[in-house]
Amino acid sequence: MTGLTTGSPTVPGPTDRDRAVRAAVERGLVSPATPVAGLLDVAGVRRSAAELRSTFAEFTEAGVPVLHAFAVKAASLVPVLRLLADEGLGCEVASPGELALARAAHVPARRTVLDSPAKTPAELREALALGIAVNIDNPEELARVDALVASAPTGAPLGLRVNPQLGGGSIGAMSTATDTSKFGVALRDEGARAWVVRAYLDRPWLTRLHGHVGSQGMALPLMADGVRALFDLAEEINAQAGRAQVDTLDIGGGLPVNFASDRVTPTYREYVEVLRERVPGLFRGRYGLVTEFGRSLLAKHGTVVARVEYAKSAGGRPIAVTHAGAQVATRTVFVPDAWPLRVAAYDARGLPKEGPPVAQDVAGPCCFAGDLVAENRPLPLLESGDHAALLDTGAYYFSTHFAYNSLPRPGVYGYTADPSGEVRFATVRTPQTLEELTAESGGAHGEELRTLR
Ligand SMILES: *Cc1c(COP(=O)(O)O)cnc(C)c1O
Repeated sequence: MTGLTTGSPTVPGPTDRDRAVRAAVERGLVSPATPVAGLLDVAGVRRSAAELRSTFAEFTEAGVPVLHAFAVKAASLVPVLRLLADEGLGCEVASPGELALARAAHVPARRTVLDSPAKTPAELREALALGIAVNIDNPEELARVDALVASAPTGAPLGLRVNPQLGGGSIGAMSTATDTSKFGVALRDEGARAWVVRAYLDRPWLTRLHGHVGSQGMALPLMADGVRALFDLAEEINAQAGRAQVDTLDIGGGLPVNFASDRVTPTYREYVEVLRERVPGLFRGRYGLVTEFGRSLLAKHGTVVARVEYAKSAGGRPIAVTHAGAQVATRTVFVPDAWPLRVAAYDARGLPKEGPPVAQDVAGPCCFAGDLVAENRPLPLLESGDHAALLDTGAYYFSTHFAYNSLPRPGVYGYTADPSGEVRFATVRTPQTLEELTAESGGAHGEELRTLR
């Protein structure tokens, strides 16, 4: 018996992701006719939601209300919002479209938070009528809300979004706490803090404070310092009001995701430990909490699988031309240094591809030269008919389609793999048909431009 095992290296078995890719190819979810699809690990999503809940359990156990409002922009897909609602999460919405999705997922108004820098009067009126929490962005918006509150009573929890102006993280476009960020009331500008305190003292219905210092690339201490700024401001307002007027702090989302390996780091728990160090007052139970995490709940659980249509070479560089490019990985293609993705190679049957690493470009289907999801990346040499999988793409990728070249939105499927390895799929979104795509592109108005002379 010993002879059978001697010297054989431990080969890791297939992961649930490997099983899902194989099953997606086998069952035709990824096929020559539908050459790209998004796959979502449902058990993984539930696990992340449970981790988030349990990390803040000490608050709930002490009777402090906590709402985890999922940032809908990270995965604007109704079944995903429904799944998260099942796990006790609400929604953070930032447009009428996102609100419509949250409502379609049966997320109740009391678990919905509206944040957007450009809310129209109609949006504000609807939110207040529904009782949805609104984080007011600026003095002009506050004036609009004043008028609405005066005209009809509302049960909607209301607060101001403030920008503590702490500085940026590693990605400028994602940093919302810079001196000149477009979001919230810039707290360190001259007279701003006093204006905010006065605004609260004049309006007993302002009961919340909101901050979100950035997404991805933010260090935990900087995130915690943003929460500290909220906490200190709430204490100041309440001291001046002589009562606990501000009762809830909305600390935003922004926990960064590790795109370099399968490891989840940092964790929610690590973030809460940094919060405990830097904002101990938060843990004394005087403030209810709202969180707005997006990427950290979903990213690790999604995979884009794309067929390799052609393998070629140019200037000595092998190139795999696949069906996943800027339409599903927009940020990675346009800002590759800030948004690198891991690519895994699978063969034509959807099995992990073996072979020596060969530096190659993994290109997408779009008609511009920069449509590359990976450049000069060492991978087993991809051949036509193989599959390239873009890992960690559960947030802001297949749910955030870019309609370049009229490429259709790919299908998205949730999966579970039971211990025996049996994979089950559920549809999140069917692939967009050419009829739908034509309709969306003005198909019903084909003759109209010709009538203008
Ligand atoms: C985008 C955004 C979030 C979510 O950020 P993640 O990095 O996905 O966690 C939360 N709150 C606000 C206001 C946002 O704009």
